[in-house]
Amino acid sequence: MIPVFDGHNDAITRQGEPDLSRRRRDGHLDLPRMREGGMRGGIFAIFSPSPGAASEPVIFTERGVHAVPLAPPLSHEAAAAHAEAAAERLLDMEREGELVVARTIADVDAAYDGSSPPVAVLHLEGAEAIDPGLDSLGEWHARGLRSLGPVWSRANAFAHGVQFAFPSSPDIGPGLTERGAALVAACAELGILVDLSHMNEAGFWDVAHAEPGPLIASHSGVHSLCAASRNLTDAQLDAIGSSGGLVGIVFATAFLRRDFADDAETPIALIAEHARYVAERIGIAHVALGSDFDGATIPAELGDATGMPKLVQALREVGFGDEELAAICWHNWRRVLADWWR
Ligand SMILES: [Zn+2]
Repeated sequence: MIPVFDGHNDAITRQGEPDLSRRRRDGHLDLPRMREGGMRGGIFAIFSPSPGAASEPVIFTERGVHAVPLAPPLSHEAAAAHAEAAAERLLDMEREGELVVARTIADVDAAYDGSSPPVAVLHLEGAEAIDPGLDSLGEWHARGLRSLGPVWSRANAFAHGVQFAFPSSPDIGPGLTERGAALVAACAELGILVDLSHMNEAGFWDVAHAEPGPLIASHSGVHSLCAASRNLTDAQLDAIGSSGGLVGIVFATAFLRRDFADDAETPIALIAEHARYVAERIGIAHVALGSDFDGATIPAELGDATGMPKLVQALREVGFGDEELAAICWHNWRRVLADWWR
């Protein structure tokens, strides 16, 4: 089985306080199912919901023009309390020896070799838990934070997230704030990867021009194949390629399908089609995986983390060979993490 590193899941903040050490009947990811699917590592996002919202909102789509208003803002205090508790749950699992929270690239390599338990990269999906003065960023780094999206699809002190809209260009709002530019610079300094998946286009280019490190969209699709505001245009793909970065191809059906439908009856082959498109446009070194397990509707055919070998087979069927599959499934993520963390 090919070892898989997956660029994005919402398992630790999915519903209340999930126990990932036991196999659950619902959702997509826990440690037993990771093992069964060959997933030896992944980026574990902490997502703090807006007041009144239980989780990341599901996108209910109708065919045609559709836009979900930006979620209401979340206070720094509320986000910090929620995110610290979620991080503590992940660190508890590490203390119990069930996983390793990645602090260095050696931790990632040990999980690949199988000489350690699976590796979890601690990620903030939206940086509300960091104070605008960035005083807590160092504490978060010490806690194990190694990846961060300045913004989720709602405005905060750092940036304006990309609204979910279809069909729509990603160019639908202002970019980084002054604090956001400071946050990106501080992340580059500390070695915390900056994730662009929920940025609008203006924010994307603000980060690109600052050149903090390889450009990463951890869980996104191709705009030419699905014209959702969350997806990447060809110009954005080109910038990712020339920066040495990557796209974690998302499994969320709405961002894969030409009709933006949130529909589990979507073939796995569509994930492979997005991967093929990115490989043909900017090269195999810039294609990776970013499931959005426990954060979105994914193809029923794939099911959950145990379905990774089915996805590998679908990638094989669009022409990727063994070496390319190893790059998509692990080594491309390994390269960019090493670049950001050095
Ligand atoms: Zn997301």
